[in-house]
Amino acid sequence: MNAITETAYEPTAYHHLVSDEGAALDIRNFNLWYGEKQALFDNTLPIQKGMVTALIGPSGCGKSTLLRCLNRMNDLVDDLRIDGQIMAGDFDIYGKGVDVIALRKRMGMVFQKPNPFAMSIYDNIIYPLRVDGVSKKSILDETVERSLRSAALWDEVKDRLQDSALGLSGGQQQRLCIARGIASDPEVLLMDEPCSALDPIATAKIEDLITQLSGTYTIVIVTHSMSQAQRVSHNTAFMYLGRLIEYGATETLFINPQRERTSDYVTGRFG
Ligand code: ADP
Repeated sequence: MNAITETAYEPTAYHHLVSDEGAALDIRNFNLWYGEKQALFDNTLPIQKGMVTALIGPSGCGKSTLLRCLNRMNDLVDDLRIDGQIMAGDFDIYGKGVDVIALRKRMGMVFQKPNPFAMSIYDNIIYPLRVDGVSKKSILDETVERSLRSAALWDEVKDRLQDSALGLSGGQQQRLCIARGIASDPEVLLMDEPCSALDPIATAKIEDLITQLSGTYTIVIVTHSMSQAQRVSHNTAFMYLGRLIEYGATETLFINPQRERTSDYVTGRFG
């Protein structure tokens, strides 16, 4: 199969189920360059509210790059240029004068490796509130319990909230990071291969958690695991060489893909 070039490029196949009506995030004609190198080409996809959207595709196809644009984590990269729009409702994420810190609170992020801070479990959770100057103990206590319960971790840690977060297992640390991500009550959770450092049992717990959290939060997850995408996501976007090849309901995309390249990827013919 030929590599996609400007001339050989086929337009994205959109399945009818994914419309931009009620989209939590609407990515429109989005391009990105790292220096001279273009990494995203004309990506257009609505991310539906309260649903789990998986970004899949071979390594280097731009999944993490696109995810990091949603809360402008890529702003920290030198020599980065973007073109196009990402809307959160009426709010233009790359609009002039956007408060990026406030934006990141609306979009919690969970990374490949759990990254708890070297402080107690309790202090990890309340960190985003402390940054905001919240000091009332009843609010902090309530947030800790609510966030840990939402992240399915409360029962395991409720008797040792003052212990160091670094003493938790990898899977517990990742659930703690999810709890920290939801402590500031975001609308969206961005997850960049959140299970890649975890064993199968811890992975299953995070996947269950993703399912529980959907509905309350809009979740975008980058995963290299096609079985994980099928287990946890409602919609899947297949990317290849920076382009969005196909986007639709997960079940349809895996069972009845419209593009040959999607079919080759989901059946494991390349990757
Ligand atoms: P994926 O998440 O699908 O593996 P990435 O988004 O990490 O892909 O990378 C997409 C492309 O952008 C790759 O060619 C990668 O080398 C390049 N890239 C990613 N981050 C940077 C960076 N900070 N500077 C320059 N190039 C980058």
